Amino acid sequence: MAWFKKTRKPIAAGVEKPSRVPEGLWVKCPGCAQAIYNKDLGTNLNVCPKCAHHFRINAADRLRMLFDEGWTEHDPDLVSTDPLQFTDLKSYKSRLAAGREATGVKDAVVVGSGRLEGLPVMIAAQEYGFIGGSMGVVVGEKITRAIERAIAERRSMIIVCASGGARMMEGALSLMQMAKISAALARLDRARLPYISILTDPTTGGVTASFAMLGDLNIAEPKALIGFAGPRVIEQTIRQKLPDGFQRSEFLLERGMLDLVIDRREMKATLGHALKFMADGAPPLSPGP
Ligand SMILES: [Zn+2]
Repeated sequence: MAWFKKTRKPIAAGVEKPSRVPEGLWVKCPGCAQAIYNKDLGTNLNVCPKCAHHFRINAADRLRMLFDEGWTEHDPDLVSTDPLQFTDLKSYKSRLAAGREATGVKDAVVVGSGRLEGLPVMIAAQEYGFIGGSMGVVVGEKITRAIERAIAERRSMIIVCASGGARMMEGALSLMQMAKISAALARLDRARLPYISILTDPTTGGVTASFAMLGDLNIAEPKALIGFAGPRVIEQTIRQKLPDGFQRSEFLLERGMLDLVIDRREMKATLGHALKFMADGAPPLSPGP
């Protein structure tokens, strides 16, 4: 009875918002639906000048925005070895190659050291354009090394989160990164150095469940999606309609999950203030760049 048989189609993934500002002269803002001149957006840290909608930005722009002039990148050449030889619709190897092609970086985090408002800092910025900013072995190792370097050089640690969570193509190995990074952050804490987590759109899954929420300060950008499981999964599980603005920065701030929600254009100054405040009373920071 062949006509009884259902043809199986793979579950289609939801249509994604473009993760970055598209190329072209004019961009339509998803917040206020107005056309914005691309150059204006660039000079405004990719925040809509009319409604303050925060466009997603890549890791390199993020580091440029936070560091003072001149910073040093660390471990740019670490790459995944595809330990499970994983294949879903496409092979993991081809996904890695596509990610590299799309972003120009070799995995989903970029790490650098330098100064922020004159203070010595180490910053790790996740790259959402690389397999959804997912956390695999390379991301875990790069962030852990960054924290260890911060301890050795007595720098404050900042992680800018933008991630869909753990990288399923590396299975349990990617889950282990949650514990590994958390343990490194505990050592940073014992060394009496500050750690600030910046949660940007989106921060979900294993990243939220580990280092994104472990900051001495957890600061989010406006209207960022922050959660563990997605709203659809939660609705299906508890069989209830979720309230408006659920899992957005402002909702979480109101309920005590976050310390601050800060406009991107004020982020650097706020971080400078917070770090200066926390550095008072801590052992002196190193003088080197
Ligand atoms: Zn707008």
